[in-house]
Amino acid sequence: IADFGIEEALKQLGVSDHNKGTSTGANWFSSQETISSYSPVDGELIGKVETTTKEDYEKVIQTASEAFKSWRVMPAPQRGEIVRQFGEELRRLKEPLGKLVSYEMGKSYQEGLGEVQEMIDICDFAVGLSRQLHGFTMHSERPGHRMYEQYHPLGIVGIISAFNFPVAVWAWNTALAWICGDVCVWKPSEKTPLCGIACQNIIAKVLKENKLPEGISCLINGDYKVGEMMTSDKRVPLISATGSTRMGKIVAATVGERLGKSLLELGGNNAIIVTPDADMKMTVIGAVFGAVGTAGQRCTSTRRLIIHESIYDKVKKAVVDAYGQLRIGNPLDENNHVGPLIDKDAVKGYQNALEKVVQEGGNIVVEGGVLSGEGYESGCYVKPAIAEAKNSFEIVQHETFAPVLYLLKYSGDIESAIEIQNGVAQGLSSAIMTNNLREAERFLSHAGSDCGIANVNIGTSGAEIGGAFGGEKDTGGGRESGSDAWKVYMRRQTNTINYTTELPLAQGIKFDL
Ligand code: NAD
Repeated sequence: IADFGIEEALKQLGVSDHNKGTSTGANWFSSQETISSYSPVDGELIGKVETTTKEDYEKVIQTASEAFKSWRVMPAPQRGEIVRQFGEELRRLKEPLGKLVSYEMGKSYQEGLGEVQEMIDICDFAVGLSRQLHGFTMHSERPGHRMYEQYHPLGIVGIISAFNFPVAVWAWNTALAWICGDVCVWKPSEKTPLCGIACQNIIAKVLKENKLPEGISCLINGDYKVGEMMTSDKRVPLISATGSTRMGKIVAATVGERLGKSLLELGGNNAIIVTPDADMKMTVIGAVFGAVGTAGQRCTSTRRLIIHESIYDKVKKAVVDAYGQLRIGNPLDENNHVGPLIDKDAVKGYQNALEKVVQEGGNIVVEGGVLSGEGYESGCYVKPAIAEAKNSFEIVQHETFAPVLYLLKYSGDIESAIEIQNGVAQGLSSAIMTNNLREAERFLSHAGSDCGIANVNIGTSGAEIGGAFGGEKDTGGGRESGSDAWKVYMRRQTNTINYTTELPLAQGIKFDL
């Protein structure tokens, strides 16, 4: 570990062997139960985090509610200034935080740094947005009246995040929610709790330096039981939850029961369509990075390649050859392409998918397997695998969060490829590789891809913060990050002002006294 500077990084981030796990900002609480965080990189225990009790949760909600009263009336551009300072702190701590992300989650150091860069980018975006929380004005049908719409803060935003983007997803939500005047309570994944501690330390310092209420950013820790404290709590008007479709269905039902709002960012089953007009080099890079980057643990990872029969063998050979060059190992070592899966349960899910695809009649073209021996002691390193399959296979319909890529063949025109692409329950990311304008436009048209993200000559994996991010169908329908995604963090109000001495009613209704 020392070789990669992890201990120094933990010190800089204020993360210790044993961390209190509930915070209302500057104030941290202790409890009896702990979560241990083991690194998938080398299997070592990185540290422990105390979980949140019901009593401590109450303190958090009270502190957050109190903070909301003053934060909501602070002018939005001044809130933007706080987010700007937070972004500056992230710039200062980019390397240690990127390292912790890599070591605790298992993604490459480059991707860990990329994740922190995304946090910085969304802070910059939010700073500008803090002067642009625009509403419409409209003409009233009544004389001497003015109508307009404005956006007000919601209150407490509860954030539940997944292990695979242990810091960026929180920042996508908080940076926007804060400039909107909301306060946030975050429950990070129980698989990456130390990333949560590190981020909370960073924002707590900024709030303290600005003498702002600590409850603007709070942290709670634990598994789904701690998450449920928030989802069932009427005092939390918006729950933003990122994770599996299974989790999303439970969260949506619980939040819906109390008529709260939920923003759901759930699983994907992303495909690239490769047409006869595709650029082969771009296709191979896009497909391979999409399938094996972050060891296939991105919500936007490429799971399916839908290839035209006329070029099927050529594409298959090129992708299989590229897999032969992949180096699997410690993600902190920049020579490696593929790091570990998050834990041994994920390894079981991967093995199960490979067994299932064979049982259903698939054909393995790049063998998988779990690696052992020196450098693979954690038991979480697996070989990226490729199988020829059919879209109708049950396992192909399912999101396996691991580097398993399915090759699917299509014949005829682009319509049949789009049908296969859309023929799954999830609707997050999709792509087409083609130099044919007609195919590209059909893919992007009303009758084209049904996903929240549709790319041309780019893979499915990753996204820029400037666009709204999210997906349809079983992906949950939520949108986060850029564009006008901020609106979900605010409540909308229509105002009509009468500056006459008459009281005319709308639609010309007469009511004389
Ligand atoms: P997960 O569903 O197991 O857990 C996600 C979070 O939900 C965790 O914090 C967990 O504690 C919490 N949780 C689980 N059940 C809950 C409940 N009943 N009530 C409240 N909270 C609950 O997901 P994971 O394994 O951490 O992440 C992988 C999944 O996340 C994949 O399906 C992936 O596609 C998805 N994901 C989606 C996006 C997106 O933007 N669409 C981004 C990242 C990850």
